[in-house]
Amino acid sequence: MVLEEARENAVKFVRLQFTDILGIVKNVAIPINQLEKAFEEGIWFDGSSIEGFVRIQESDMRLEPDPSTFAILPWRGTDDGFNNTARLICDVKTTDGEPFQGDPRQILKNVLGRAREMGFDFFAGPEPEFFIFDKKDGEATLNPHDSGGYFDQAPKDLASNLRRDIILTLEEIGFEIEASHHEVAEGQHEIDFKYEEGLTTADNIATFRSAVRAVAELNNLHATFMPKPISGINGSGMHIHLSLFKNGENAFHDPNDENNLSKTGYNFLAGVLEHAPAITAITNPIVNSYKRLVPGYEAPIYIAWSNLNRSALIRKPAARTPESTRIELRSPDPSCNPYLALAVILNAGLDGIEKELTPPKPVSENIYELTKNKRKEYGIETLPGNLNEAINALKQDKTILNTLGNEVAEKFIMAKKTEWDQYKGYVTQWEINRYLEKF
Ligand code: ADP
Ligand code: MG
Ligand code: MG
Ligand code: MG
Ligand code: MG
Repeated sequence: MVLEEARENAVKFVRLQFTDILGIVKNVAIPINQLEKAFEEGIWFDGSSIEGFVRIQESDMRLEPDPSTFAILPWRGTDDGFNNTARLICDVKTTDGEPFQGDPRQILKNVLGRAREMGFDFFAGPEPEFFIFDKKDGEATLNPHDSGGYFDQAPKDLASNLRRDIILTLEEIGFEIEASHHEVAEGQHEIDFKYEEGLTTADNIATFRSAVRAVAELNNLHATFMPKPISGINGSGMHIHLSLFKNGENAFHDPNDENNLSKTGYNFLAGVLEHAPAITAITNPIVNSYKRLVPGYEAPIYIAWSNLNRSALIRKPAARTPESTRIELRSPDPSCNPYLALAVILNAGLDGIEKELTPPKPVSENIYELTKNKRKEYGIETLPGNLNEAINALKQDKTILNTLGNEVAEKFIMAKKTEWDQYKGYVTQWEINRYLEKF
């Protein structure tokens, strides 16, 4: 099937893709005549050169392409249409042919398997935001490509042509785009694609980031998923909408509940709240992530949920149909590894279902404006304030550590501690401005 499709579309090269622990997409390109062999035997590569794979004794690993992920990369085609490049997302296997437990895609598959054992299919829909900046002398700048604002239209929204390009490209690879708009900040955009089963959504997020960057690049612009590139204005988040289906029906939906949320939905929500501090290490994995999670820019800071306002960590959006009953987690940002993020979120929710956890009451006030005493009265805790706090929270959460497995948990924590230590010792411009002449 895939072979035929590749031949019909004049595919000359196939990129075999997988993701390292930090969420960076890796490629091994093969010429088309190797594709059949890749399906039969897989493609061997040296795992010791991949971030997060290094601690494995056996460095020989095998990529096993997932045929359902075949897609032609429109931005890699040549004008004559005869030298196309396609991609296949792969699973990573060990020398014995076992799933490699350090492969983020496998970690998500493990949790999806657990959900299935409990009778659930997991669905997720992300809302990734990003900035588009001008380039100068081949380097990315911090100059926004346009000066539009939330939902602005052309002519202010100069980037709407680019956004159309991006969307057309995504549609070519099979994305169903639900909405796209200019975001609050200059140069900032959001493109929402349709929710899918968990593994597909994680694949889609990885593909989305590559596609957006590639199309921007073709226009001599730089797209970034860095969560907070500019101080003092909104950062880029990636809200994730979540639901479980059982026997084809939305298990979060209950028409008789005031929020239309079922017991399963409440349990899941409570599980995510319970594990929120540790989850943050995965959904907000870089030093810069915590520059977004500050008051005043619609990013969550407090561990609470709401059926109304958008200041809470979890929002229960009003659903128009039973199918669209879902909860929205608002902390994740687009720098996260989508496989690990969905794995820990789902496992936290399943933990809530298994333990039948009940969430606290929803908070209807603007949580940013609550006094400390009120927050205490409502039992509202705060999210980790920086990467170090998040890593410490992760270290204390057995459920989330188990989701990742020893190998990945250890490797992730080590990489993030190093990142934090480097940052901690760095003297910033803010400090120079503030202190140099004062002391
Ligand atoms: P917001 O109001 O937060 O901006 P949007 O309407 O932009 O939310 O995005 C809604 C997202 O929720 C979309 O990605 C959509 O595909 C997704 N979604 C809809 N129904 C479900 C569901 N049952 N499970 C998971 N995600 C869903
Ligand atoms: Mg939105
Ligand atoms: Mg948005
Ligand atoms: Mg949206
Ligand atoms: Mg949203």
